[in-house]
Amino acid sequence: MASVVPLTGRPSRFEGGLREVAPRAYAWLQPNGAWGEANAGLIVGDGASMLIDTLWDESLARQMLEAIATHVRDAPIRTVLNTHSDGDHWWGNATMPPEAEIITCTPSREAMDAESSPQALARLARLAGLASRAPGSLGGLSRYVSDMLSPFDLAAVRLRYPDHTFSERLTLDVGGREVQLLVLGPAHTPGDTVAYMPDAGVVFAADLVFVKAIPVMWHGPSTGWLSALETLLALDADVYVPGHGDIARTPELEAMQRFWTWLRAAAADRHAVGEDPLTATEALIRSAGFDEFRDWECPERLLISVAALNREFDGQPPMRVTPAVRARLFRHVAILKRRLEGR
Ligand SMILES: [Zn+2]
Repeated sequence: MASVVPLTGRPSRFEGGLREVAPRAYAWLQPNGAWGEANAGLIVGDGASMLIDTLWDESLARQMLEAIATHVRDAPIRTVLNTHSDGDHWWGNATMPPEAEIITCTPSREAMDAESSPQALARLARLAGLASRAPGSLGGLSRYVSDMLSPFDLAAVRLRYPDHTFSERLTLDVGGREVQLLVLGPAHTPGDTVAYMPDAGVVFAADLVFVKAIPVMWHGPSTGWLSALETLLALDADVYVPGHGDIARTPELEAMQRFWTWLRAAAADRHAVGEDPLTATEALIRSAGFDEFRDWECPERLLISVAALNREFDGQPPMRVTPAVRARLFRHVAILKRRLEGR
C-alpha cells in the first residue's frame, strides 16, 4: 500500500497512516494537517465497527478502507459518524458499505445542504489552474486555490448524505463498546461533534482540535470553541485524535486554549481601532503574541477566523459562507500569504 504522505508534496512532520491509539481504537492520520489533510478514526468492537469521518474524496477514503480491511473483516462497519459539515470530513461517504448507517447531528446536516458541491469546487480548481499565471492578485488567488484543491479528485465525488440525525448527545453500543457522541458546537462549524470512548480514554475530537495547524473558525462563536475545549479537557482522556495534525494529549489542547484566548484579545484590540481583517491579521502574525503558533501550518488562514471574530465583536450573526463570501476571504488569504512571504 502507498504510504500516507502530505498531499501538498511537502516533507512529513509526523507519521501518517493507521495508528492504534488504544486497544482496537485507531486514528487515520494525514500529514501535515493543512487544507483538506484531514484525519479519521476507527472503533472496532465484537462483530461491529464504527468509522469516524470519511475524508475529502473517494480515492482517499478507499485508501483508508484498504488499510483497515483486516481490522473490520470480522467486525464490519455498521455506523459512520460525520463529525461536521466540512467536505473534507464526509465527501468520502459514497465509498462506505451501503448497509452502514451514516449519522450526523442536526445542525451539521443542515449545513451540508449549504456547502458548495464537489463539482463546483472541481470547476473552481480547474479555472484557478488556468488563471494562476495571470499577474497580480488574480494570479495570486488562483495559485492559492489551485494549490489547495489540486491534490483532490473532487470531480469524481458522489454525495451520500447521512441517513439519520441526532441532537446534543447519543450513546452508541459499537460491538459491546460504549461510544458517546457529544455535540459541542457551534464553534468551528454549526455542529461540531466528538466521539468519546470512556473504556479506552480516547476522544475523536475532529476539527475542535488542530495540532500544529492554524485552526479555522468559519462559524463561531469563539467562546463556544473555548467552552468545547474545557469540556474536552474535563473528559480527561489519554488521547485526543484531532481533525488535522498529529495525535494530541492535554498539552496540545492547552495550546489551543492559549491560541483562542490570545486571538480573541488581540483581534479585539485591532478591531477597536477599525482595522480591516487583512491589515489586522498581517499585524497579528507579525506580533510577538503569535510566536508560539509561528510554526503551525497555514498561518495565512488566520484571516478567516479574524473575519468571523469581527462579526462577533459587532454583535452580528455568524458568517453565511456563500461562494461569494468564500471567494472574497480566499482572495484576502492569498494576498496575505504573498505579503508574509515578502512578495
Ligand atoms: Zn477539517
